[in-house]
Amino acid sequence: MYARSLYIHFPYCESKCHYCDFYSLGREHLTRDRKSAFFRALEAEAWLQAPLLATELDTLYIGGGTPSLMSPDEIAGVLHPIRNKIKNTTEWTMEANPSSISANSLGDCRKLGINRLSMGVQSLDSALLKMLGRIHSPEIALSALETVFHSGIENVSVDLLCGVPGQTTADLEKSLKQLTAFPIKHLSCYLLTLSPGNPLFGKLPTEDTQLEHLLFVDRWLTAHGFEHYEISNFAKPGWRSLHNLNYWMGEAYLALGPSAHSYDPLGGTCGRRWKNHSSVDTYCSKLLKNESAQEWEEDLTPGQKEIERWMLALRLSDGFPVSWLDTSRRLELAAQLQKEGLLQPHPSVADRLTLTPKGLALSDEIISTLI
Ligand code: SF4
Repeated sequence: MYARSLYIHFPYCESKCHYCDFYSLGREHLTRDRKSAFFRALEAEAWLQAPLLATELDTLYIGGGTPSLMSPDEIAGVLHPIRNKIKNTTEWTMEANPSSISANSLGDCRKLGINRLSMGVQSLDSALLKMLGRIHSPEIALSALETVFHSGIENVSVDLLCGVPGQTTADLEKSLKQLTAFPIKHLSCYLLTLSPGNPLFGKLPTEDTQLEHLLFVDRWLTAHGFEHYEISNFAKPGWRSLHNLNYWMGEAYLALGPSAHSYDPLGGTCGRRWKNHSSVDTYCSKLLKNESAQEWEEDLTPGQKEIERWMLALRLSDGFPVSWLDTSRRLELAAQLQKEGLLQPHPSVADRLTLTPKGLALSDEIISTLI
């Protein structure tokens, strides 16, 4: 494959947040020796996989974990094998936490070529931040945003959580007002989901309240110049996340680092995906012996590919062509969903259907019904 999108996973965080199910380790695991082994392994993987990348990258995304814990020199070191594929036109995003950025490091990140920052703010209410186990305060988040905009990076996205126990739409509105007082270009708003074993699980708001939060955020942001272009994502016109769009359009991507998933739509008969080992120790020991870090791979079946096609199309505000309603059952279901105000004709493109804001909020159920 010749992927034009590359994801790099940095699996360490300052500390583990109470709600997080991602594969990440607290900073205490990042001893000098482990850090050095991890960066050598990541660089080795970049050498090994570089032939799968196109000569020019459209997008590069460093996520985690908390990649802003890496110094710009460390980032430059691991990217050395693919440096010549990063162009001025590459959308290069780094995830950052408010508590782990400084004006100096941002200046150096910018010189390196990072031109988009995705900041995990989550909330601007100190009690909610504490409950979530985030280590920053509202003041730290706001001052981090000041620092980011002073650094000259203009393509800035923030993450916000809704459906948090005890959160109200008034809290959400306060956070949205404070965040959009900055010239942010993009905002991702995720509904807090927890596994049943999580101590906060029993305190989650009712489904009605969750829906109320999602619809409130949709109304507020669309009234303030943002497009709701994907289930959880809002952007000012012209500032959608190109990297994530690449995933949602079913294009090829390569991913490096522990637990990273890659996808090649031209692999096998219907596409192929593969995943790296999640354990950092296994990941490092394999690559430092010059072996692949891949844990498994699977070839998609025609049925899986069809499900994926629907799932991807229903996530995006661009929707799907009416011609996909190719059975009487699907036609009936689509008519029913339109009657319930969940599906609507695309506002500007003929013969396409798209989920309404309420449909986007209930997309999981709609996707399983339609598929
Ligand atoms: S900073 Fe992000 S990745 Fe790290 S523990 Fe918190 S939610 Fe998880």
